[in-house]
Formats: sequence, C-alpha cells, structure tokens
Amino acid sequence: MTQKCAHKGCGKTFTDPEEECHYHPGAPIFHEGQKGWQCCKTRVLTFDEFLTIPPCSVGKHSVDAPILAPVQTSGPGSQKQKYPEVAPPPEIGSDGSEVYGQQQPSQQKALPKVDTASGTPPPEKKEKPLEQDDPSVPVPPGARCRRHGCEATYDGGGREDEDGKCVFHPGVPIFHEGSKGYSCCKRRVLEFDQFLKIPGCTTDRHLFAAVPKSGDEEELVSCR
Ligand SMILES: [Zn+2]
Ligand SMILES: [Zn+2]
Ligand SMILES: [Zn+2]
Ligand SMILES: [Zn+2]
Repeated sequence: MTQKCAHKGCGKTFTDPEEECHYHPGAPIFHEGQKGWQCCKTRVLTFDEFLTIPPCSVGKHSVDAPILAPVQTSGPGSQKQKYPEVAPPPEIGSDGSEVYGQQQPSQQKALPKVDTASGTPPPEKKEKPLEQDDPSVPVPPGARCRRHGCEATYDGGGREDEDGKCVFHPGVPIFHEGSKGYSCCKRRVLEFDQFLKIPGCTTDRHLFAAVPKSGDEEELVSCR
C-alpha cells in the first residue's frame, strides 16, 4: 500500500514505513522577508529557495504529522499567535538515542475544544415554563415547598402522583405604591402579613427540588 508522507520537506510517497525520511520537524518561519524553518538556521529570501532548504532531521515517514501554523513575526497577521523561535526538544528514545519527528500529544491537546453547550440560547424570561419538581433529586424530609404561597413541607413519601396538592402563585411578587400582590393574579393587599396569606391561584405538584437557576424566581417587580 502506497502512502504519502506528511512531513514538511519530505512529502514523498512511500511503501516501506521503515524507510528513512528527511524532513523539517519545526514550523515555517517568515520574518522580515526571510524564510526558513523553526528547526534549523538556514534563512532564504524567496519562496522557491525556502522549498529547497535541505531537511535537517532524519526519521521515519509519517502520514499524520502534526499541523504547524506558519510563523509570521512581521507584516500583516503579526498579531496572531507566535511560536518561539526554538526547535522543539527532541524526545529521547528508550535506548538513549534522540528520536525526531515523534507525535507531540501535548500540542494536539492544546487545540481549542468545541463547546457543545455554546449553541444553547439563554432561557427566555417570558413564557417561562412552570418549574417542576425533579423526583430524581433527593430531598430531606421537612424541606419546604419552593413555590410562592405554599408552605407545605416534604413528608418523606413519594413525590410523584400528587398533582393538585400544591396551591401556589406561579408569578412573581409585585409591590406597587404600597399595594402588594403577585403577577399571576389580581388580588392586592397593603400589609406584608396579608400578602403572605394571599391564597394560591394555581394548583400543581409541590416543588421540592428544582434545577438550580440564576435565582430569578425570587426577583421583585417594583414600579416605584
Ligand atoms: Zn529544519
Ligand atoms: Zn517522509
Ligand atoms: Zn397568583
Ligand atoms: Zn407546594
């Protein structure tokens, strides 16, 4: 089977993986019109000469050499990430000899990870679906129901199949010019004690364990 060597400065097609490969392990360096390789000292002025700089290292052919970005130290693009002008340290083989052209796993790990969560839009405040209890999250007996207007505590029993046991306000508290109420219903009172006793306007299951959120459940709407 014929394969193409991915080493820069080589690029030969080969069939014998043990064949000697002459190549540049470093990245190309373009600096003020001078061109060369990170791994050796030769600098030339034209791109044609650059392509013919004799390879400085000997190793084995490889079909998946790490991709190194060209180094630009001047001119357009100089703001991009720079690589230090030193050759990567050769790896020492088990027999004490220096082995060139080995894969460098640390270099590959440095690639930015694809953030799969970044495509998720932030939760909308409007038309927020009613938060529901998560029965898979353990709750200690005696925990308070988290819904507004409900003061039930968890009795340690099953938390599913209890629809309608929670009487609560799905909206947020509204304090406006001394009157107090909830955004979900029309009842308004003047005293805070009365506000706490406004009967819930909606029934559902108790909410003992909610998915942690940014805490906007407790925000007050004030029109002052
Ligand atoms: Zn070189
Ligand atoms: Zn090669
Ligand atoms: Zn209400
Ligand atoms: Zn409740």
